[in-house]
Amino acid sequence: MSRTVPEPPLALLAELTHRCPLQCPYCSNPLALLSSRDELSTSDWKRVIDEAAALGVLQIHFSGGEPMVRRDLEDLVGHARAAGLYSNLITSGVLSSPGRLAALARGGLDHVQLSFQDAETGSAERIGHLHGAQAKKLAFARDAREAGLPLTVNAVVHRQNLDRLEAIIDLALSLEAGRLEIAHVQYYGWALINREALMPTRAQIEAAAATVERARARLKGRLVIDHVTPDYFAQRPKACMGGWARRFLNVAPDGQVLPCHAAQTIPGLIFDNVMDRTLAEIWRASAAFEAFRGTAWMPEPCRSCDQREIDWGGCRCQALALTGRADNTDPVCILSPDHEAVVQLAETASASRSESFSYRRYLRPANS
Ligand code: SF4
Ligand code: SF4
Repeated sequence: MSRTVPEPPLALLAELTHRCPLQCPYCSNPLALLSSRDELSTSDWKRVIDEAAALGVLQIHFSGGEPMVRRDLEDLVGHARAAGLYSNLITSGVLSSPGRLAALARGGLDHVQLSFQDAETGSAERIGHLHGAQAKKLAFARDAREAGLPLTVNAVVHRQNLDRLEAIIDLALSLEAGRLEIAHVQYYGWALINREALMPTRAQIEAAAATVERARARLKGRLVIDHVTPDYFAQRPKACMGGWARRFLNVAPDGQVLPCHAAQTIPGLIFDNVMDRTLAEIWRASAAFEAFRGTAWMPEPCRSCDQREIDWGGCRCQALALTGRADNTDPVCILSPDHEAVVQLAETASASRSESFSYRRYLRPANS
């Protein structure tokens, strides 16, 4: 059981805002969204960037919500470049304006990750709940190409778009993306509310894996495709976030520092804020970071398992969502006493005929 001084984190996810014109039913933002009044100021974010660089962080991911709602994004990107950080913009691409992306590239932006809800316009705009979004995304991808920015396409997949995976791959190719991330929905927060409408069938999962294998062979050297078996259909968990508080940290729009973007779903954890402590102090000693760091917290069967420093016991938020306790073994693991319940749950949810979404909204979910 080890609990040593942590290595510096690799990357910081800077959640600049929860504001976003889209309303994806699987959004990873918390159910209680923060308003613009709660957001850190430009000078506070610049201090956070400096503290991150001093701590040893190498990459900063500007995210949200939609980070392009922040008028100071150019300023923050330039500050990150001056601090020596590699910067990535995680965006829905619907709020750009002529010349803005080129200006961000000139200011030091290194990479863009653009999300698509589907390859087919009607479906994409139903899922994101924003008419006209797809054309803006396509234009944004062209702008990224013209600005010379490397592009990753991110597609969150689920029962209602997985049958168009080949079209999604073709879309990424046509946009000259260097990488395609096929991300299966993770079921906490908004996605947990929408689980019945989103859970894929086992047949879809198997078809997707075969589609990806064929595409990887066909597109070798042209497009890198990231894809892993979704948790509910796996037998071993992933090392969520590379292990709790081992590689990454998130700063929420109001300055709370989280070990992962869903950590606020876990009741009882106390999160520090960059307005009260430095990032270095928080990384090394925050109670929320220490809660599940390393292996000392682990119950059996993890405690005596030879995989414990490989998958770090899986995802704490998932353990909570599925077993009611964040300190249980992730029940995705076939060794967990709760695993069979997950198998049953996945089968039941994927057999649902529900197609209606509770969309991400500021006040309360609205049905489609
Ligand atoms: S998942 Fe959708 S709603 Fe949530 S921040 Fe991203 S684009 Fe906006
Ligand atoms: S028992 Fe725990 S450490 Fe072992 S494989 Fe399962 S989740 Fe990972």
